[in-house]
Amino acid sequence: MSNQNDSPECPESSHRIRTRLIHGHSPTDRLDFSHHVVPPQSCSAAFRLDSVKRGAQGFTEFAHTPDGDSRQVPTHVYDRLDDPTRGMLEDNIATAEGGEMALAFASGMAAIYATLGTLIRSGEHLVAHKVLYGCTYSLVTNWLPRLRIDASLVDMTDPDAVRAAITPHTRVLYFETPVNPDLTIIDIAEMRKVADEANMDRLEEQKVRIVVDNTFATPFCQRPLELGADVVCCSLTKAIGGFGTDVGGAVIGPKSLHDPLIFYRKDFGGSLAPRSAWPTLVYGLPSLATRMVNYQSSAIRVATFLADHPKIERVLYPGLETFPQHRLAQKQMRDYRNRFAPGSMVYFEVKDKDGTGTPAAKLIDWIAENSYCITLAVSLGQIKTLIECPYNMTHSSLPDAEKRERGIVPGGCRISVGLEDRDDIIDDLKLALEQI
Ligand SMILES: *Cc1c(COP(=O)(O)O)cnc(C)c1O
Repeated sequence: MSNQNDSPECPESSHRIRTRLIHGHSPTDRLDFSHHVVPPQSCSAAFRLDSVKRGAQGFTEFAHTPDGDSRQVPTHVYDRLDDPTRGMLEDNIATAEGGEMALAFASGMAAIYATLGTLIRSGEHLVAHKVLYGCTYSLVTNWLPRLRIDASLVDMTDPDAVRAAITPHTRVLYFETPVNPDLTIIDIAEMRKVADEANMDRLEEQKVRIVVDNTFATPFCQRPLELGADVVCCSLTKAIGGFGTDVGGAVIGPKSLHDPLIFYRKDFGGSLAPRSAWPTLVYGLPSLATRMVNYQSSAIRVATFLADHPKIERVLYPGLETFPQHRLAQKQMRDYRNRFAPGSMVYFEVKDKDGTGTPAAKLIDWIAENSYCITLAVSLGQIKTLIECPYNMTHSSLPDAEKRERGIVPGGCRISVGLEDRDDIIDDLKLALEQI
């Protein structure tokens, strides 16, 4: 059985991240399973305790990590507090993002809400990019104001607009990069400078923190913490889960945030079910690098095909040389071997004389009914190629005028390139474009 005193000849830390995402902490102190090749799925709402003393210890130690010990093995009491399978996933997600700690939530939205709920109090304020994932936009504009947390939504590609929006009550700068759905890149290092200027005279608890939603890029393509972010949030449902079987989310950040966040998760709920953590631990994260390399090599072909097509108005893919922020993307999106990693998402607009979106809707409807390898569905980063219309679907919660002002038009389509043969994806798109 696992022996914590073993010091292996080939330590984990001397291996590359791609390898570590497959092997995790092995052996792990979280669960004793030295005869399994695959870590077991723990399915126990409560945990058996040997004595009242140990039960009491489980409660008093919870969310009280001793200083300097980021991987303390908890006394397991109840699933919502902490669980070994979820814990193993959390360790590996922290490795993937280069963070000190990670916590897993029941969905990406639960992770985002827990982060903002932990970092911002009533009466305080956040600055967010003007284009956000639809539910994040709704959270920030519908729900946070009820807690007297207000947001200024600005164009975060413009550092001066961010500077102007920061008030003495601002606690968070929040953005996605690449932005869902149009793949705008926000310069994380530039935002770091803005936050540092604002923080010069602030007490620790008043500091402005940078929170990045890294769902689109995934840690394979971009590590925001290395680029200056304080906290990363992401949906595990998308490319990290990879197979589209489970919903989940994660927060990755400094050790100092572990205790407040796990305490928040204990009381608000929304812990990732171990049954959903397991496929991400065993299939999703270990195959992330391999899938991403293949998604990307097809995505550039798909983007190039679309860019050359006479019925397409424009194509946005960070890997295209014509992408408006190609250089910034090259600087910021790097894989674990420091190669340019522009990701698996492509946004394109179908030519649309009257701006009604009719040709794009026709294209997508034709695909929905007839295409073998492209599926009309939200979500992204799966082994299957998915297409959707952000204007009418994922971003429908934004008001029409705001959507148009923000460049989300009815003729826009978002495609998440999967693992099918790239020529089949292109042939299906070619055929669909012939129908409109
Ligand atoms: C899907 C998504 C989320 C929300 O994640 P869920 O797991 O669906 O709750 C947040 N941000 C981005 C960019 C997303 O694509």
